[in-house]
Amino acid sequence: MITRFAPSPTGPLHLGHAFSALLAHDMARRAGGGFLLRIEDIDQSRARPEWESRIYDDLTWLGLTWDGPVMRQSDRTGAYAAALDDLWARGLLYPCHCNRRDILAAASAPQEGIEPASGPDGIIYPGTCRTCDRTGTRPQKTALRLDMARAMQDAPDLGFSETGTGQNHRIAVPRDAMISETGDVVLARRDMGTSYHLSVVLDDAAQGVTHVVRGMDLFETTKIHIVLQYVMGLPSPTYHHHRLIRDETGKRLAKRCDARAISTYRSEGATPADIRRMVGLG
Ligand code: GLU
Repeated sequence: MITRFAPSPTGPLHLGHAFSALLAHDMARRAGGGFLLRIEDIDQSRARPEWESRIYDDLTWLGLTWDGPVMRQSDRTGAYAAALDDLWARGLLYPCHCNRRDILAAASAPQEGIEPASGPDGIIYPGTCRTCDRTGTRPQKTALRLDMARAMQDAPDLGFSETGTGQNHRIAVPRDAMISETGDVVLARRDMGTSYHLSVVLDDAAQGVTHVVRGMDLFETTKIHIVLQYVMGLPSPTYHHHRLIRDETGKRLAKRCDARAISTYRSEGATPADIRRMVGLG
């Protein structure tokens, strides 16, 4: 078993991250497997080296050790570009020039005043640019969307194994629902040349991750990842989506939640065992 923890260095690690990291670590170690670390820093406008070093510091304090070198997404632009070139050559991507306002306007037009439908990736793209030219070399510095209908045209019944409920369930990823309820997701953002979805799928495969352990908030998003694994011929790991750690008002902990930062608890004298207890792993 190979698990991983994949934080973004855009703020302090809080109790929710501690839970995710401890769970992924413990699962792997109990099985005699490997635990890997990946720094998800594709968003260079938000990633900071100080946050990255604090991640290492907090994880080490928690008593976690990881195997092999840390993977950093900012070192992987070549792999992301190669995958996009391949998808482009197969006619599965198209350039999209819409901004948020264009998308909102097009998505709401037929039903004035009604909120446009949203999926796991936000507003379902109304398809304005789907007829854009897909020939020639892949455009750079332009957003590229996956043509979901074309990507799934010959797909078998897709699905994934989910163990987050304590048992192993198969979750279906139905073709029609992916087309109508998720739609043409962005695989390369104009400012980044990649996207969370593309990078995470390629990186999990490159690191040989067999079990993805992460929060329940990413459950629906996983369906997008299964489609990407299928179109790129990559193996699908097993997924373990865990409960979310909430504050006393029931809200999910946010990145900016300094009060729940591991470092805050540390400075107040908490021990790693206290943190384990706080997240229910004591
Ligand atoms: N980088 C993501 C985060 O910090 C985690 C993504 C994942 O586990 O797939 O929320």
